Amino acid sequence: MKPPVLRCSHVTKRYGNLTALEDLSLEVYEGEIFALLGPNGAGKSTLIHCITGLAKQTEGTIEVLGFDTLRDFRTTRRLVGLVPQEINYDPFFTPMEILMIQMGLMGVEPDRERVESLLRTFALDEKRDAYTRTLSGGMKRRLLVAKSLVHRPRLLFLDEPSAGVDVELRRELWQEVKDLRAAGTTIVLTTHYIEEAEQLADRIGIINKGELLLVEGRDSLLERHNGRPLEDIFVELIRRADGRYVT
Ligand code: ADP
Ligand code: MG
Repeated sequence: MKPPVLRCSHVTKRYGNLTALEDLSLEVYEGEIFALLGPNGAGKSTLIHCITGLAKQTEGTIEVLGFDTLRDFRTTRRLVGLVPQEINYDPFFTPMEILMIQMGLMGVEPDRERVESLLRTFALDEKRDAYTRTLSGGMKRRLLVAKSLVHRPRLLFLDEPSAGVDVELRRELWQEVKDLRAAGTTIVLTTHYIEEAEQLADRIGIINKGELLLVEGRDSLLERHNGRPLEDIFVELIRRADGRYVT
């Protein structure tokens, strides 16, 4: 059997007295769409930041395709990509510039053809030389996805990519996610739209207060709960974990 694309072993992350992740172990396999669900403050972004090199875990190890994210940082950061929740590029740069600069930051050879092809794929061709502040909402978000892909990551993280995005754009985004997976990218996403995770994900992880409560295949999880909606299963699990009354 192939080794997992991602292996988190006993990962703990503390911020002072606050434990954002507690002894978390998780594996993600090649070609799957894994949805990480949890309430605000559960530790989803913290975990993604530890994997993508924006933060360092306090304890435990994280491996991407067998490479340690602390020891082999240069290798792992080229293997992963991140679509963050917030727009993180300068509004006074053009899509073309942003993608070219990102290639440099990721330590790959500047490749204009690659950038042109991404601009076409994400329908940004027309606006390639416009200030990004003049782009529509949909274009801005597509640029964020394109930016995360310049170095052809094997493992892509989307951290609440659909938050505050209208229905049409969300559908477009999920289609992009499916296309990326079809092209061989392994995907980990977080979202508050649980019905969408239910449709899209092969496996589901539920995290609460830094602890993984459950990791299971979508089909088996739903079957075990007699086909109840994932949202109900989610809410009940979180309430139980918090020691709240469950009707
Ligand atoms: P989620 O993404 O699931 O909403 P986060 O990972 O952002 O949750 O946050 C988990 C916990 O860690 C929260 O209590 C948050 O306030 C805390 N936290 C996150 N980043 C920092 C930081 N840089 N410094 C201090 N506390 C942080
Ligand atoms: Mg978050």
